[in-house]
Amino acid sequence: MYDKCINLLEERGVGLVDIAQCVLYLQKQHHPEIEEAEVIEVIKNVIKKREVQHAIITGITLDKLAESNSLQDDVLRDILINDKSLYGIDEVLAYGICNLYGSIALTNFGYIDREKPLIIKTLNEHSHMCHTFLDDIVGALAAAAASRIAHNAE
Ligand code: MG
Repeated sequence: MYDKCINLLEERGVGLVDIAQCVLYLQKQHHPEIEEAEVIEVIKNVIKKREVQHAIITGITLDKLAESNSLQDDVLRDILINDKSLYGIDEVLAYGICNLYGSIALTNFGYIDREKPLIIKTLNEHSHMCHTFLDDIVGALAAAAASRIAHNAE
């Protein structure tokens, strides 16, 4: 299941390094000394959690179904393809990841979701692909990893 998630993320254009860059973006003021390799290990640990894997698979599968015109429900397809801002279920799925890592993860997610740095910005610019769930999943993975780092540093 872990390998499947890593492959799904890569297939959709997201490598562990891209997520690590988001973590470094979140942590630059608090832990400027932290190295990318260290961050990647933390992200791998986050992705090893079963609940996180379920969120990744669910979100990316819905993105792919919408993109390939395979969703039977036209209303849902329209919402996902157009990334309708009032939908909100993409964020709710991401909270499922953040909730496992406490309030720091939720705060980090809110921040990164508003700023949309790096790969999250790139995902939002890919108009020919559907990344309605993926951008929030990446934000949540980065937020969760940043929270783990913050808690381990204390
Ligand atoms: Mg989204």
